[in-house]
Amino acid sequence: MSVLTRDEAQTRAELLDVHRYTIELDLTGGDDTFDSRTLIRFAARVDGNTFVELKPAELRSVTLDGHPLDPEALDGNRLALPHLTAGEHELRVDARMRYSRTGEGMHRFTDPTDGETYVYTQLFLDDVQRVFAAFDQPDLKAVFELSVQAPQDWTVLTNGITEQADGVWKAAPTPLISTYLVAVAAGPWHSVRTEHRGLPFGLHCRRSLAPYLDADADELLDITRACFDRYHEKFDEPYPFDSYDQAFVPEFNAGAMENPGLVTFRDEFVYRSAVTDTERQTRAMVIAHEMAHMWFGDLVTLKWWDDIWLNESFAEYMGYQTLTEATRFTDTWTDFGVTRKSWGYDADQRPSTHPVAPEAVDDTASALLNFDGISYAKGASALRQLVAWLGEKDFLAGINTHFARHRFANATLADFIDNLAGATDRDVHAWADAWLRTTGVDTLTPRITPGEHGTCALTVDRAGSRPHRVAAGLYDRDLGDDGGQLVLRERLHLDLPRTDAHP
Ligand SMILES: [Zn+2]
Repeated sequence: MSVLTRDEAQTRAELLDVHRYTIELDLTGGDDTFDSRTLIRFAARVDGNTFVELKPAELRSVTLDGHPLDPEALDGNRLALPHLTAGEHELRVDARMRYSRTGEGMHRFTDPTDGETYVYTQLFLDDVQRVFAAFDQPDLKAVFELSVQAPQDWTVLTNGITEQADGVWKAAPTPLISTYLVAVAAGPWHSVRTEHRGLPFGLHCRRSLAPYLDADADELLDITRACFDRYHEKFDEPYPFDSYDQAFVPEFNAGAMENPGLVTFRDEFVYRSAVTDTERQTRAMVIAHEMAHMWFGDLVTLKWWDDIWLNESFAEYMGYQTLTEATRFTDTWTDFGVTRKSWGYDADQRPSTHPVAPEAVDDTASALLNFDGISYAKGASALRQLVAWLGEKDFLAGINTHFARHRFANATLADFIDNLAGATDRDVHAWADAWLRTTGVDTLTPRITPGEHGTCALTVDRAGSRPHRVAAGLYDRDLGDDGGQLVLRERLHLDLPRTDAHP
């Protein structure tokens, strides 16, 4: 199978304007395969050659503008579309696709507890081709209109609100989204539904976990609502989709996936026994993280996979910060400092270290090669440093410009930096070069020098070259009956390399 290169993606994005996918899936045909019919409406800007991707069990037929193409021409996962003329086109693909048992594409699972079957998609990066034919790259956004035929007692969840008639579930057309963000989850789900700010909210899990989901539904929905409201205070752009479903799905490879309007989580997050509060905080963090992606990732999407670290670091930063501000989990940054950040420090001091922002990702196969503690934890730490250095007001102003300029479209790291730079007098481009294009850690060493009349001076030495804004807390020792505690008197902010501050 061919992997898509950056050059191929750029060439195809220059040639094509993809309007709409109309997709019909039939999940009633057996345990191994399902039927997938796709109509893609698109335009070519000039005469040219291109290809569409698909990984079928059987390619039954393909027509372009009503003229049949030879299904035997499928080469690996690519079907050539030669001699396209400038103008509008319609591509129809009829195929039989394989269910997956590995969590890639359309995963199928039968619950050993009760024999019920569930299917769900995970299409991240380039797995949409396992479910339907697509121009599979993040910057060819389109409207997706899905209909799914499913067994009688199933519920079909998709990115948008669905309506069912005679076993066929039709989803409301999506706004412009990327191929990798399309989602379907079908089965006899147990669901908890509510509304918030006029939007349908849902929680879903397999039936055998129903009592455990019900036991935690209030907590899950409280966190969901609190984060949702807090994001609306931070972001000018309203939540961009028509519903918010969170499905806890079996045998999920990752922690969760930010499909617009249908976030999928590993169903280990539906706790089946007593758990620690740290585990509840972790789950809340994932809820907040995925919701941040609705704006950063789904509304505004990376143009190419070299910016996947920014996608994750932003959601990571925003998730921790929002959880701290909006929920009972107010110490999340301590947890981040102890567990997540050390993951980044560790990776950054190995011979295999790399800059937070990679210089080039040549193809889809190499997109995740360097994806580690630097991508998530150091990236999120760098963004947190950026917020401290810019001030949250300017940071959010830049982010809101970013959303407004690139809504339902794509953006790059350069766009992100430009939009932040427009909100401040500070040199964000130099900051980005120093923090995102370099490797290794800086070491900051505080020194306290006693002065006259009980005063003291704080100096921070910096080994390294990056600009830092750090906070120093001044504490009084309160010797109470319970053994005493430290009480914050004042917090000082220091800009490095300028290193002196006096209380
Ligand atoms: Zn994420």
